[in-house]
Amino acid sequence: MRAPILAANWKMNHGPTEARAFVAAFLASYTARTDRTVVLFPPALSLSTVRDALGSRADITLGVQNIHSEAKGAFTGENSAAMAADAGARIALVGHSERRHVFGEPDDATAAKCALALRHGLTPMLCVGEKLEQREGGETDAVVLRQLRAGLAKLAPADAPNVLIAYEPVWAIGTGKTATPVDAAAVHQVIRRELAARLGAKQAAAVPILYGGSVTRDNARALLDAENVDGLLVGGASLDPSSWSAIAST
Ligand code: PEP
Repeated sequence: MRAPILAANWKMNHGPTEARAFVAAFLASYTARTDRTVVLFPPALSLSTVRDALGSRADITLGVQNIHSEAKGAFTGENSAAMAADAGARIALVGHSERRHVFGEPDDATAAKCALALRHGLTPMLCVGEKLEQREGGETDAVVLRQLRAGLAKLAPADAPNVLIAYEPVWAIGTGKTATPVDAAAVHQVIRRELAARLGAKQAAAVPILYGGSVTRDNARALLDAENVDGLLVGGASLDPSSWSAIAST
């Protein structure tokens, strides 16, 4: 059994003042549990505020929503892996669908980011997922496998097990359309098989694969119960402390 990971992606919401208020409200309603990991991905500008507001809460881990594919340099407006780690992040989202499809992030950038994250003490959470037309064209498995292989391409064999994977069908993100637990389980199985081919069954079994896409407090339980679903990556429904507390407690 892999302990579930419940992760909140705030996207471009909750600057430092709102983030501090969110943490206070969330901590007031969420009882710490040892059988799961809760992750918050605030915007980079709110990372250190959230870290300070969490204090000694070891049950809650911080992540950064994006890092640059270079370690440092003349990249105005960007954040490096080292800076994110310094601000309190322990996980880095890589290849979120908004990075891929709004900002045009190519597969080779996700590979560089995964490798860089690990080099700076961050665990990459590699996001993969197909668009609606790809699903309708029967390309889901091929797209997911291409993104998975590309994202892991620059990792040393010893590092490959130290990743998190999030399956997030693009058509389900922020749309209110959720993959059924059966559909999610089918793609998670494809991912698990690919990991097993690369790492061997034992190490592959230990890699958490999260589902994301219009998760709410009402559908979280059924998705989490699906085979090979080891956690949830939640956008919109993580913005409200009581909604997030209910999902984190699922
Ligand atoms: C996300 O941003 O990763 C996400 C899954 O968003 P939502 O839950 O709003 O679909």
